[in-house]
Amino acid sequence: MRCPYCYSDNDGVRDSRIVEDGKAIRRRRFCNQCRRRFTTYERVEGLLQVRKRDGTCQDFSRAKIERGLRAACWKRTFEPEAVEKLAAEIESHILDNYEKEVTSEEVGNLCMEYLREVDQVAFVRFASVYRSFSDAQAFVDELTPILKPKVKAKKKK
Ligand SMILES: [Zn+2]
Repeated sequence: MRCPYCYSDNDGVRDSRIVEDGKAIRRRRFCNQCRRRFTTYERVEGLLQVRKRDGTCQDFSRAKIERGLRAACWKRTFEPEAVEKLAAEIESHILDNYEKEVTSEEVGNLCMEYLREVDQVAFVRFASVYRSFSDAQAFVDELTPILKPKVKAKKKK
């Protein structure tokens, strides 16, 4: 994208989100040359598609991500705004990196990555719902790195 100020073609995207009921993507950009910021709106012909395991597709939806995160964060010390912010960050990440299609698995993995950073209990809840573990051992492998510090703490007592 050419910078409207200095006309150099060297910009970066800071934040992307779906606006106008899914009809446009707003991207906040900054120029690496003159360091100024500008915003672009992309009209989408078809909204980003999420391909599910069974091969069917549906429109990408931040609301759906937010519902999943909210369920995982149930009864955790989470402000509703924090969940919204997390969903917005995940949406931005997906829009920055995928153009036409993303798999539900990639969306799920990304949600797990972000959740893991902020709340490990919520992460495990989310993981247990979204990831179909191939066997019990896979589930234990997933949990072990999380539970380790607590085991060590108990031994000290
Ligand atoms: Zn510029």
